[in-house]
Amino acid sequence: MRRTVAVIGGGPAGLMAGRLLARDHPAWEVTVYERLAPDDTYGFGVGLTPAVLAAVEGVTPDLHHELLAASASFHSAKFELFGETVELPSYHAGAISRARMLQILIEAARADGVDVQIGAGATLSDVSACDLVIAADGVSSTVRAELAAELGASEELGRGLFIWCGAEIELEGTIFMPVRTPAGTFVAHAYPYADGRATFVIESDPETVERAGCLTSEFSHEGDSDEATLEYLSAAFSELLGGGAFDGNRSRWMHFRTVRCTHWHHDNVVVLGDAAATAHPTLGSGTKLALEAAIGLAAAMRDIGDEPPASRLAEFERRERPGVEQIQDRARRSQLWWESFPSRLGLSPARIAFAYMSRAGAVSLAGLHETAPALTAMAVADYAGVTPADVPSEGLEQWVLQHAGAGNGGAPHDRAAELAVELDDPWGPEAQTLIERIPAGNGAGPSVLLTGAATRGALLDRLAFGERIRGELGACVTVACEEQQLPDAVDGLVAGRADLVRVAEQ
Ligand SMILES: Cc1cc2nc3c(=O)[nH]c(=O)nc-3n(C[C@H](O)[C@H](O)[C@H](O)COP(=O)(O)OP(=O)(O)OC[C@H]3O[C@@H](n4cnc5c(N)ncnc54)[C@H](O)[C@@H]3O)c2cc1C
Repeated sequence: MRRTVAVIGGGPAGLMAGRLLARDHPAWEVTVYERLAPDDTYGFGVGLTPAVLAAVEGVTPDLHHELLAASASFHSAKFELFGETVELPSYHAGAISRARMLQILIEAARADGVDVQIGAGATLSDVSACDLVIAADGVSSTVRAELAAELGASEELGRGLFIWCGAEIELEGTIFMPVRTPAGTFVAHAYPYADGRATFVIESDPETVERAGCLTSEFSHEGDSDEATLEYLSAAFSELLGGGAFDGNRSRWMHFRTVRCTHWHHDNVVVLGDAAATAHPTLGSGTKLALEAAIGLAAAMRDIGDEPPASRLAEFERRERPGVEQIQDRARRSQLWWESFPSRLGLSPARIAFAYMSRAGAVSLAGLHETAPALTAMAVADYAGVTPADVPSEGLEQWVLQHAGAGNGGAPHDRAAELAVELDDPWGPEAQTLIERIPAGNGAGPSVLLTGAATRGALLDRLAFGERIRGELGACVTVACEEQQLPDAVDGLVAGRADLVRVAEQ
């Protein structure tokens, strides 16, 4: 049956959705409106994880083949920490030039009969008469703004600042590298995406960026990059760049915007990709969320027969929302971890690497020990103040618990001040108020027992708060948890988020 579908925005979400719908429903007329040409697009390389490539392969093997052929794949990741290198094990990832990915998606969409109109901006009122309107118009979605009340849309600005840039540099794999400048710390995450090219996301805090004199740039054109910042950062990272320079493409300092919508659809309109939900770039999931949402939307439309497409939007949301919310939760933890990164530079390199791996609650010590025993042994040895040879290969969690408090003269928790922690943002101002309630320690830092709800999320928040007060107050932190949550507590001990653990009495 003939149907009309308008897609506003030709990023990965819109192009993939348009293409799959046109392919699966030859009688549907699908139009994608994109205001920019692929060469004008922002960004450099975008991450394509094995998981998202597998999802693409499942629905469109030909496209998977093309994307893979145009991607760089790499199998290493390392922290460069002021002269010390820590390799992260079993790391497999890929990346592709954003412009090249969009060209491939445009060609695939056109081959399946999608009318892709490049250089054509569209508004909701232009297309609202269509049977289905897909708003894939990115993080600054005007459709989401127009339907903000109906969609329950919200935006949250990150505390930190970040900037995307690129460089002509041959990287073997992903690199995480902080540098200290007289103004403060900048951290780069870099990965290769084509021969001799790498993408960088560089993060810092507003005070450091201001001290560096990088917040005063003025732009005369929408597409200008912040050249003063690129010059400053090129000098700061000159060792990594081998004397080269960062280049920009609409590269400016930004506060990350976390977009959430309590509803993804209203009448015949559905928001997709960044327009509906964003995830901090340190999780490397923006393009993944966009492509997976498109795949999910197409799946919800399969076998639709004569039903109107809008009738399937509730089912689409029901199926896709839990996965997206899980990614957003991990991305939030990752964002908070990176925003507070300079505070944990006192940890040993191996513990920083483990803290990074476990930052979002997705990788555990036990899990990592299976694939990276040398790294876990080093991190655990540094935690317990022994050598890696003293760390057992079996029964690691129990051993970590037995060594809790080693090296810091851990105070017994029955003398600790008890604090109930219920915080979404353990590094934020609400947490600051809680910190002010902690009684001063007797000579050494205070001894604090952190209690709270029994959910896993609440425990991870408690542990993050524990890390903050260990760093800021020199506190000896005991974290309360349930018996079955001991693996998370063990991760927290090794990652420097707690000194001791107390298991709640059943
Ligand atoms: C400045 C910036 C740089 C980025 N750089 C990188 C990077 O280097 N690496 C990386 O992995 N990720 C990067 N990202 C994140 C990543 O690109 C997104 O998470 C991902 O592309 C989301 O896909 P999407 O299709 O939902 O939205 P987008 O890719 O943002 O696509 C939305 C599209 O809609 C178009 N559009 C908007 N309004 C209209 C309209 N009214 N009419 C027609 N078209 C419209 C836009 O031009 C855009 O092409 C960057 C994001 C931003 C904001």
